[in-house]
Amino acid sequence: MSGSTRVVVVGGGFAGLETAFTVREHLGDGVDLALVVNGPDFLDRPNNLYVPFRRDPRLRVPLAEPAARRDITLHQSPLGATDCAANRIELADGSSIRYDYLVLATGAAMRPGEIPGLAEHAHTVWTEDHARTLGAALDRLAESARAGRSQRALFLVPPGNMCSAPLYDLVLLLEQWLRSEQVRDRVDLLLTTWEDRYLEAFGPDLHGSVRSEFATRGIEGVTAVEVDTVHPDRVAFTDGTSQQYDLLITFPPHVAACAFDGLPTDARGFLKTDPATSRVMGTENVFAPGDSGDFPVKLAYLALRQADAAADEIAWRIDPNARRARRELDFQVGASPLWNPGRVSVRVYMPRLFAAGRPSQSGIGGW
Ligand SMILES: Cc1cc2nc3c(=O)[nH]c(=O)nc-3n(C[C@H](O)[C@H](O)[C@H](O)COP(=O)(O)OP(=O)(O)OC[C@H]3O[C@@H](n4cnc5c(N)ncnc54)[C@H](O)[C@@H]3O)c2cc1C
Repeated sequence: MSGSTRVVVVGGGFAGLETAFTVREHLGDGVDLALVVNGPDFLDRPNNLYVPFRRDPRLRVPLAEPAARRDITLHQSPLGATDCAANRIELADGSSIRYDYLVLATGAAMRPGEIPGLAEHAHTVWTEDHARTLGAALDRLAESARAGRSQRALFLVPPGNMCSAPLYDLVLLLEQWLRSEQVRDRVDLLLTTWEDRYLEAFGPDLHGSVRSEFATRGIEGVTAVEVDTVHPDRVAFTDGTSQQYDLLITFPPHVAACAFDGLPTDARGFLKTDPATSRVMGTENVFAPGDSGDFPVKLAYLALRQADAAADEIAWRIDPNARRARRELDFQVGASPLWNPGRVSVRVYMPRLFAAGRPSQSGIGGW
């Protein structure tokens, strides 16, 4: 049985699925739920990090079965336009859906074109294809090192990127892989960042940890350098310095994945939200948890917490008796004791929970 209040969630990523499954947990069959997706699967993007190293992470979870299990109507067509005045969205296939509550969880995209030469010369791991291409480039790097040619891999954190932490993971993973390939002594590793301190957006605590880890592993680090232009064999910085490379790896600047007509956005297209509930400013019934909102750090485990807050709020508005006690939001990224379990959870547990049609808060027993 479906209730008459309709919640429409756009985006089948961390934030969208967490919101949909949590609303269902709160309200049971007292709500009509629809999920708009632009592909058949949930993609666990954090697991792209392991693809270049030929590990076999679980990257995709088909959505049809968990959606059916939770009585969620799946619409497979990208969002076209939002008409908030009429409480309707239009999809690219020409259909339109009425909503009482709308959740815009369409995530972020990359815009490498902001930096001259970046798209042409740098590798990234944003998509599975990018990650496989990087894997092939790493093989060539190791081959050159084995043939006796010294190599230099440069990791570049540019301004405008709001999720630099995985790049730090990647340099550590590469260092470990080069040792296993027995070519570590022939490959220099360097990470440059525009931040004054490593992982600055994540609070003050991580700089010292990164510095000592880099020192232990022989990784060079340079802070407070802003890329100007990327050339085929070197990166030029705005302070006049430059760094040579044989292989360049970066996370480009972020922008919103979709344009949202008539809704308030920041300069990068992210929806302006109330941090406590992820409600879009100036609206009563539109929410933007996860990377589509304007929170300055983009991370899956934050997306999950923002989605929980949005789902709590929506459930409470529909049925004040249904909502649990308000959950405390903990956005002290890096400094929070939840940081490490959070990282494990997005890479290992979340694909399994989503496959079972369950949100993160439902625990890991009984898949
Ligand atoms: C390599 C890498 C490693 C990472 N590692 C970590 C980590 O260890 N820990 C961590 O917490 N975070 C990590 N992150 C960040 C994390 O992946 C994101 O913060 C997270 O995916 C955000 O979730 P989201 O649901 O907001 O967006 P997404 O996961 O991007 O989901 C958005 C969904 O919306 C869909 N969509 C987009 N446009 C439309 C449209 N027009 N119509 C319909 N659907 C649409 C997309 O296809 C996607 O399914 C990593 C990111 C990368 C790239």
